Order: sequence, then C-alpha cells, then structure tokens
Amino acid sequence: MLSMSYYKTLEEFKSSTGHEIDGFWYPRVTSILSIKSKPALYRFYAKQDSFEAGEAIKNKSAEEGTLLHDTVEAILRGQSPALPEIIRPAINSFLEFKQQHEIIPHKIEEKLISTKHRYSGTLDCLAEINGHLGVLDIKTSKAIYRDYNLQTAAYIEALRENETMPPLKRWILRLDQSSRCLTCGSTMRQKGGSESIQLARFGSLAKTCNHVWGETSGNLEFKELYGVEKDIQAFLAAKTLWEWENDYWLRQI
Ligand SMILES: [Zn+2]
Repeated sequence: MLSMSYYKTLEEFKSSTGHEIDGFWYPRVTSILSIKSKPALYRFYAKQDSFEAGEAIKNKSAEEGTLLHDTVEAILRGQSPALPEIIRPAINSFLEFKQQHEIIPHKIEEKLISTKHRYSGTLDCLAEINGHLGVLDIKTSKAIYRDYNLQTAAYIEALRENETMPPLKRWILRLDQSSRCLTCGSTMRQKGGSESIQLARFGSLAKTCNHVWGETSGNLEFKELYGVEKDIQAFLAAKTLWEWENDYWLRQI
C-alpha cells in the first residue's frame, strides 16, 4: 500500500490509518510503517505499464496473500479448510514444515494494543515453536524484508505491557510458490495474474531461452529475527515521524 498523506476528513484519516477499540482510537502499526520508504515497492511499480496496472496486480496479489494467510491460520487452529488449487503448492510446504516442528498456537489473528505508546496491530500468531514462545508472522512476499523487523518489534513491545508475558522470540514464516524453467533454470512467480521472471544468473542461455516451466512448487523460509531492542527504538522513531507528518489530523483527535 502506498502512503497517502492526504485525507479529506478527520473520519477518513481515522478509518484509513487506525481503528477504535473500547472508545479509543489507535493508529495501526502498518499505517505507521508506511512512513518508511519501500524501495522494492517502487521498483515493482516502475516495471508496470502504468500506476493503475501496478495497483491492479498489487490488489489481486494481496487477495491471494490473504487466502494463503487465512488457510494457514485455519490449519494452525486445527481446522481442515478447503485447499484452493492456486495456493496448494505453498500450503503443501507449510504442512511439511508443520510436521517437522512442534507448533502450539496460543493466539491467532488477535488485536494488540499498546496503551503506553498508543498504537494497535493484528498479530498473526503467538505460538510455542520447538519449545520457545514467540511472535510468528506469516508473509507471502518473495523475500524477507527488513521492514518485518519493525512490524514484529512493535508487536513484541505491545505484548510486553502484559507483565506476566515471558521473553518472546520473533519469527517470520515466508510462504511463496514458483516454478523453474526446465531448460535454463530461471524462476517464474505467478502473482496477482501477472508473471514475474527471474533469469538464471549464470550462463547466457537464460536471455534467449523459450522457457519451459516445470511444476509450481512451494517455497518456505522460516527465519528468527534478532536485535529486538534496536528494532523497537527504530519503530518508535518511525512512529514519531509518522505523528509529525499527520500532526494536522492527530491534533484534532
Ligand atoms: Zn528457460
């Protein structure tokens, strides 16, 4: 989502950037983080025919991401959801991962509030994984971006307001799917109805290859994030900057 710093009314500002919980309004962690530039996103838009074409792909791809997200969360809840064909390879990777690790979910898709710093967010999962309690964030992007450090640090900081909370780890579980060219080894991802091809790095074959795509397979990356204290400081700094940018509206709340 691109940061839109212009809103017509206070209500529009409040509903686009946050939500009301028990009569109080809190900005969302993801809105706050929109203040930070996202070079990967700009590169994505630059490759599209128009801004609108980019938006259409983004929206469709976000829908697929939500579908994958919801399905994984249903499986974590112990349900047996339908497995739509379009996300099946990624789900299969997740099921395999789930067999190899002990995962005990405590909270799934739950709203978090920091009353101390005044922000809110939605936690994908608070879980015990292989005996350690932590925040598990599920991503469907093609890489693990550093911005995820800020987002998950914000969740940790909010969870710490509960004094009985033990020390928490942070993990990103990235699920994605792609297929490989059987001739040259290039990789193709299909997302939001558009194909993105990453040419094989070595050999000159890839540039002129009439790719023959193999079966789509799931990719799974599970990564622990370190350095939470530094990340919390960075998140709070981003929040200060976000408040500065939106001062006009925030003064009216
Ligand atoms: Zn090829």
